[in-house]
Amino acid sequence: MSMVLMMGPPGAGKGTQALRLKKNLHWDWLSMGDLLRSHVEQNSKLGRVAHSYMKEGKLVPDDLLVDILFGAMHSCHAPYVILDGYPRTLNQAQTLAESSFSLSIILHLSLDEKELTRRIAGRARSEGRDDDTPEKFKTRLAIYHREMAEVFAFYKKNHLGQYCKIIAGGSEKEVFDSVMNALQKKSLTSS
Ligand code: AMP
Repeated sequence: MSMVLMMGPPGAGKGTQALRLKKNLHWDWLSMGDLLRSHVEQNSKLGRVAHSYMKEGKLVPDDLLVDILFGAMHSCHAPYVILDGYPRTLNQAQTLAESSFSLSIILHLSLDEKELTRRIAGRARSEGRDDDTPEKFKTRLAIYHREMAEVFAFYKKNHLGQYCKIIAGGSEKEVFDSVMNALQKKSLTSS
């Protein structure tokens, strides 16, 4: 099984595009945010600790995520697994690089801040997530820029051939076409 990394700021459409890929290509999809939210809902010990960070828009410490992630990856059966929202720190990127899973492609969804803010405001109204308030979104975006600079530098240094930047400002369908295009260029789809 090989990894497809879906990366980008909050509101860029990672989950939306990952779901489309899952449906179209029958790949597995793991969202670290969803995995954590399910621990929060179960009110597990880990869920309670994770929630104390998530509700503030902060990153959950790396060492709490490793078992959840690899546990979930080992129960995937498709040839490709889309990782949505992981890695988000250099340490997480290094953890993946040291794992037994190969890396197929890095899909970096890129979008300007004005549009991200607009989308997050819409999601706050429809989903009511407690980390989508304007203030928490600001925190999440600042953390994203701070941490991801190192992550992208790591991938550009070590995996430039697999790195693809996708302009994610168009419609869902337009962005999906760009994603499929990138996958086709790397021979990761049959059509
Ligand atoms: P998301 O659904 O991807 O927006 O993630 C929601 C929240 O879960 C984030 O704001 C973080 O608090 C936490 N989270 C998700 N992925 C990670 C990660 N890779 N590292 C640390 N915290 C994460």
